[in-house]
Amino acid sequence: MYNTVFVLCLSFLAVLAKYEIYEGHTLYNIVVKDVEQAKLVNGLEKQIPIDIWMYAMPGRPGQVFVSKETEQKFLDVVENADIEYSILTDNIRESLELEKERLAAAAKRKSERSSFGLDFDTIHRYEVVDAYLTELSIRFPHFVTVESAGNSFEGRDIKYLKISTTHFQNNTKPVIMLQSLLHAREWITLPATLYAIEKLVIDITERDLVDNIDWIILPIANPDGYEWSHTDARFWRKNRRNGLLPGDSCVGVDPNRNFDVFWGNNSSDDVCSNTFHGTSAFSEPETAIIRDIILEHSDRLEMYMDIHSHGSMILYGFGNGELAPNGLELHVVGVAMAQAIDQVKWVEKPNYRVGNFAAVLYPASGFSSDWVQIAGATLSYTYELPSYRGQSGVNGFLVDPDFIVQAGYETWEGIKAGVRQATNKFYNRVAEKEAILR
Ligand SMILES: [Zn+2]
Repeated sequence: MYNTVFVLCLSFLAVLAKYEIYEGHTLYNIVVKDVEQAKLVNGLEKQIPIDIWMYAMPGRPGQVFVSKETEQKFLDVVENADIEYSILTDNIRESLELEKERLAAAAKRKSERSSFGLDFDTIHRYEVVDAYLTELSIRFPHFVTVESAGNSFEGRDIKYLKISTTHFQNNTKPVIMLQSLLHAREWITLPATLYAIEKLVIDITERDLVDNIDWIILPIANPDGYEWSHTDARFWRKNRRNGLLPGDSCVGVDPNRNFDVFWGNNSSDDVCSNTFHGTSAFSEPETAIIRDIILEHSDRLEMYMDIHSHGSMILYGFGNGELAPNGLELHVVGVAMAQAIDQVKWVEKPNYRVGNFAAVLYPASGFSSDWVQIAGATLSYTYELPSYRGQSGVNGFLVDPDFIVQAGYETWEGIKAGVRQATNKFYNRVAEKEAILR
């Protein structure tokens, strides 16, 4: 009895702490007039501990999340530069509590599934997804295997699925890789990979996608950060690397700045920053794991999609503004994916934007889809799924449970469109090579 009370008290305190760390934080809307203003405000993340939720660009407002301690410094810079700003929310705690309530209510009204699988009523935790991947490999051994890629910094097993009717033994098939949750707080990205698994393993409606492709799906690329975002800090982005500063006053490397591509050029060397790139390229177990999977399959890796949120964008290399040699092809396939999503998206969500990472979002370095493009994928993309804009008006990482299944469904429409084009290109190239040899 006392133990139960004690545990209940502890979990109550944990919930309080989880929200208290954001007490006094404000989410600002930033409107920049020109590229100079954009550079100034976006570059601030390298100097003071602000959290940029959306980079400002001329014609697109930015969102910056600022703590009470940093607020004055931030406002001084913004006001001195005559940059327009307004408050989106000064009571983030209310929004966090609303998300928690709505997710809990949605989890209770669990829809009955007619078959085996995870539901799309809620956002599943690491342990649930981890067990699910193993269960899939046991139930569908003729075409699904689960691989342990290695351990995260805190020792969590990072598992991925291989889906292949020929057990990855047929080298004339393209390999396509899909991953989510490299950034911990981007919860809405998990349903995108879980939905793809559902359509490729449990509820197969497009046989060609199962037969003609070898799939690699990694649903939780950063499990330590992801769990931390559930238990301690909802807006945690990085992994949980510690020991870099005495007393661990700042923790975590941004895994999506840690890949060996223009490493360190456009990211932060400050351990406390949200875009801290680590002590060297691939210093983190989470990124080294993705590197090794890619290198194992680079000879026939046709497409790679790293799913993030938010902003309704499909982005391709490179983060310094240069284009990959097949930039036109990347753009054409990207547009096909965006159009497929736009056809089925909720009307209030914006249309997807497609383009070069630096041109559409913001210049950045060391991120996964750029490295994979160079390491051998023909088509490598970063998806930014749409943001939540619910009752609270907060536009960001919080999840509206009503949107979970839609996020999975519409993203899958985009993936399908892209994958079909990629697969056709792959088989055409194989046929051309054979014709030359004949
Ligand atoms: Zn992200």
